[in-house]
Amino acid sequence: MKNPFRLPRRANLSRPWRWLVPVLPVLLVLLFLAVLLWLPWQARQMEANERQEQLIADTLWVEQTLRFELARSEEALATLGADLVAGLPTSVPAPDALQARFAQMFKNGPELRRVLWLGANGALLARHGMDPPAAKPQADGVETHDMARLTRAGRYTEPYGATKQAPGLVDYYLPLFQDGAYAGSLVAAYDLKVLLDETVPWWFAQDNALTLLDRNDTPLATRAAGGPGRGVYTHRRPLDLPGASIVLVTDSVKGAPRLLPNLLVGSVIVLALGLLWSLLALWRHISRTLAAESALRQQMAFRTAMENSLMTGLRARDLEGRVTYVNKAFCEMVGLPPEELLGRKPPMPYWAPEALGEYEERFAGVLAGTITPQFESVFQRSDGVRVPVLVFEAPLVDSHGRQTGWMSSILDITDRKKAEELNRQQQEKLEAGARLATMGEISSMLAHELNQPLAAISSYTAGALNVLERADKGVPVEPVLLRRALEQARQQAQRAGQIIRSVHEFVKKSEPKRETVAIDSVIDGVRALIELQTRQSYVSLQIHLPPELPPVLADRLMLEQVLLNLTRNGIEAMMDAPPERRILRITASNDEAQVSVSVIDHGHGIPLEVAERLFSPFFSTKAEGMGMGLSICRTAIEFHGGTLTHAPNPGGGTVFTFSLPRPAATTAAVELQ
Ligand code: ADP
Repeated sequence: MKNPFRLPRRANLSRPWRWLVPVLPVLLVLLFLAVLLWLPWQARQMEANERQEQLIADTLWVEQTLRFELARSEEALATLGADLVAGLPTSVPAPDALQARFAQMFKNGPELRRVLWLGANGALLARHGMDPPAAKPQADGVETHDMARLTRAGRYTEPYGATKQAPGLVDYYLPLFQDGAYAGSLVAAYDLKVLLDETVPWWFAQDNALTLLDRNDTPLATRAAGGPGRGVYTHRRPLDLPGASIVLVTDSVKGAPRLLPNLLVGSVIVLALGLLWSLLALWRHISRTLAAESALRQQMAFRTAMENSLMTGLRARDLEGRVTYVNKAFCEMVGLPPEELLGRKPPMPYWAPEALGEYEERFAGVLAGTITPQFESVFQRSDGVRVPVLVFEAPLVDSHGRQTGWMSSILDITDRKKAEELNRQQQEKLEAGARLATMGEISSMLAHELNQPLAAISSYTAGALNVLERADKGVPVEPVLLRRALEQARQQAQRAGQIIRSVHEFVKKSEPKRETVAIDSVIDGVRALIELQTRQSYVSLQIHLPPELPPVLADRLMLEQVLLNLTRNGIEAMMDAPPERRILRITASNDEAQVSVSVIDHGHGIPLEVAERLFSPFFSTKAEGMGMGLSICRTAIEFHGGTLTHAPNPGGGTVFTFSLPRPAATTAAVELQ
């Protein structure tokens, strides 16, 4: 069965990929940021590549242009050369016409610096233009010339003459043939700087620095209209002239593209950083929330466990009396599941029919806002069993201090009630027992106290009978003796009656009849009885009383009984003593507070183990003893606010002393009058 008191588990706790939930957004954002940072870099790369490609294409184009210009010039030279050798050896071109053609050529190709016409034997036949500032190396020229003749094709020399101030030059040897036979050469010198200046368009020169290099990378000619190149975008392209190794180098004046070329990329990065920051903040917030949630769950679990383990029933009700909460103990108390209680309004299913009036009256109080903070009631469990309960009610207050209902804690007091009932029954039994004990006590006391007067009566009547028996034998009757014996027997009979009344009063625990009593008169009252015993036991009785002994406020009969008990014990203690030590003394003394009477014997004394139990009822060391005497004496003396003590007699035996408080002087005076 589902336990409604158990805390619901979170469904996804066991999923293995749960840890991804907080990590995934972070991973995605990091990926997003990486892409964002990569994009500008990629754009820059693309731009750089594009520029490089553009430069390569432009360089190619320039190279083509240079090649085209030189090719055009070669063609013009070839045409001229063909014309020159056509009429040989018969007709030689007129020098003026030749110069005019040269001039025309120089006009069309400003890069031309000088043209030589050499005959088949190497003699200079004509020339035009200025000599180059530097002379080309002789060997190179001869070699080129020979190669041109051999290959029957035009050929360039290696560039030469380049200095810091002067640009480099290159010569072109064009072999001329007539009818297959070598007929001379045309040698043209090109100024490479002019070639660059004239051939490369200005807009290209504006964006790029152009340099022509020889095979040793020595600059031959440079054109840098837009300033020196940055060295970022460069391209080398050989001019591919037969015999000459000239490399065209272009170097863009543009630098590398900037990483943050525009506001857009900047703002994207700012946004990304903002996003990262807010994500971190969100993450922290989520972590805190998760921690708080976990702490709350723990607390909830603890609270639920606590409520479930409580023995006290808990019940909450709203202001209309509807049950809003019950704990396990309450449900067990009324034997109903929480579903049958929550949301219920009175009459409740656990109300016992016989107490409906009480419930309704109390519920009306709850609705009116007046509660009884603590009361006892009874619930009817679902199986009909009545459960006595103790209910504590208190207002239920929310966190804003508003009262939202009532909270009750309910204690099942079945056990307490049972214990109370048991207690009551035991009390009754005890009382009955006590009554029985009291009756036993009365009979014991009576038996004990009546012993002496009855023994005395028996002794007096035996005396009287003796007198009468003697009369039967003819001895004259002594009426005085007879009367005295009968008188004594009558007195003892009266005394027995008084004892019975007194014991009855004593057992009823009614106040003793107190009167002002003089100690010597008390002793006189029992003297005859004491002497009766001392005579029988061969004990001599000595009574020493100070003359001015003040009276006490006491029940005379009780004091007499005490004296009789103490003297009888003293006499019995001396039964085994030698006759000369059998002396029983009664003394008295007084101080401002009390009057004390001591009974002193020379008997066997009281050993320690006997002393411990001396005053316990029914404790006796004698074969015939009842063990009530000292117990009665102590009770009687304490009844009068006095004390009864015993001490060893220094001369052997025991001293029993009772002390009674002296009445206040005035009271005593009044009483005495
Ligand atoms: P009982 O005299 O019936 O034994 P008591 O209560 O008067 O009962 O005395 C209890 C016991 O105390 C006696 O049995 C005796 O052992 C002891 N006792 C009492 N008085 C004396 C005494 N004067 N000397 C020695 N022992 C005494």
